[in-house]
Amino acid sequence: PVQVEEKVKADLKHIFGFSHFRGNQELIVDNLLKQRNTFVIMPTGAGKSLCYQLPAVVKEGTAIVISPLIALMKNQVDQLNAIGINAYFLNSTLSKSESNRVKSEVLKKNTKLLYVAPESLTKEENIAFLKEAHLSFVAIDEAHCISEWGHDFRPEYRKIKSIVAQIAPNLPIIALTATATPKVQQDIQRNLQMEEADLFKSSFNRTNLFYEVRPKVKNESKKQLIKFIKSHKGKSGIIYCLSRKKVEEIADLLKVNQINAAPYHAGLDSSVRIKNQDDFLNEELDVIVATIAFGMGIDKPDVRYVIHYDVPKSLEGYYQETGRAGRDGLEGHCLMFYRYEDILKLDKFNKDKAVTERENAKVLLQEMAAYAETGVCRRKFILNYFGETMEEDCGFCDNCKRVRETFEGMDFLTLA
Ligand code: ADP
Ligand code: MG
Repeated sequence: PVQVEEKVKADLKHIFGFSHFRGNQELIVDNLLKQRNTFVIMPTGAGKSLCYQLPAVVKEGTAIVISPLIALMKNQVDQLNAIGINAYFLNSTLSKSESNRVKSEVLKKNTKLLYVAPESLTKEENIAFLKEAHLSFVAIDEAHCISEWGHDFRPEYRKIKSIVAQIAPNLPIIALTATATPKVQQDIQRNLQMEEADLFKSSFNRTNLFYEVRPKVKNESKKQLIKFIKSHKGKSGIIYCLSRKKVEEIADLLKVNQINAAPYHAGLDSSVRIKNQDDFLNEELDVIVATIAFGMGIDKPDVRYVIHYDVPKSLEGYYQETGRAGRDGLEGHCLMFYRYEDILKLDKFNKDKAVTERENAKVLLQEMAAYAETGVCRRKFILNYFGETMEEDCGFCDNCKRVRETFEGMDFLTLA
């Protein structure tokens, strides 16, 4: 078995405070340290950051980390600084003098990681600066942003490869994502010209999550929603709705039913939005009713349920959102209310988009509908979508349970 040098293990322990590697981490770190292009597919929360942070510390020079969210960038840099690693970021929040200071620190060769927003990477002045810098490798975090088949496509991400080629053509690249669909994977590899990269793919099976779909019927579903939440009294849960309006409506409905809930969406004043998010993280709130604007980078371990009151736009998005339940390894319940009209409604929203974009979105929606309507094991369906095969039914989703109950109901027949 491949093992990294003792020095690397010592850094894992003394700098990051972890006594062991998790899953594929050691293989990945080793691969990158050997200067090989590396492609990592690992579910959210599994520990992708370490796969580039540890090699960045070990290697000479500065690692460039491309990351899509400014808020997450600052967060990561603060965390690295807190454990004594020199790291900075370059993005649009910095003033001219602040970014000049960052650049001079990098040129002084005492920076291990430099986080860069894709919009900043494409700037001429930054390209010129990066050409001067002594770099170790390039990490592309949230690499699914490259793909139009992903759930959060960012056009600037598509330019990364050509810019890296200008900066330093032979720099190793590590691309990381929690999106495992074969379509997205191929798209990323093609775009980064990384078809030859070594692939490290972990299983996406979240064995502690229970998957359930119920038909959406106007008032009945609202009653069921309230009943479900009340049966999880004092537990944390997330309710996803499609529109801001629906978020407000459901949050109000829960509040009048004495449920400790608040809304979260991009239309709220940022102070209110931040307060509601913090209250949820600090357990002052049991339930957050949100659009998909909520959740990226949120690491609350004890979310006990995620409810989709409206159907998501893709199974990929569904997996990411439900993945916020049960991060502590204890049970999480993933409930979705579904009616086909919602699929049609979502498709209509796309009517002004370019033809291929609309067609792509339609394929994703059809896959979502197929999941909602399937009678087979839901876990099998999800894993299959991510290119994994599962031999046996999981026994831990509504479809499996239904089959088992019917079967158990017939026990007396076999006993007789
Ligand atoms: P991802 O980017 O894959 O969603 P993160 O890199 O944010 O995941 O890591 C998720 C959590 O796992 C973090 O709290 C991190 O500190 C922790 N973690 C990562 N690697 C290890 C490890 N080897 N041992 C223990 N905890 C780890
Ligand atoms: Mg991450």
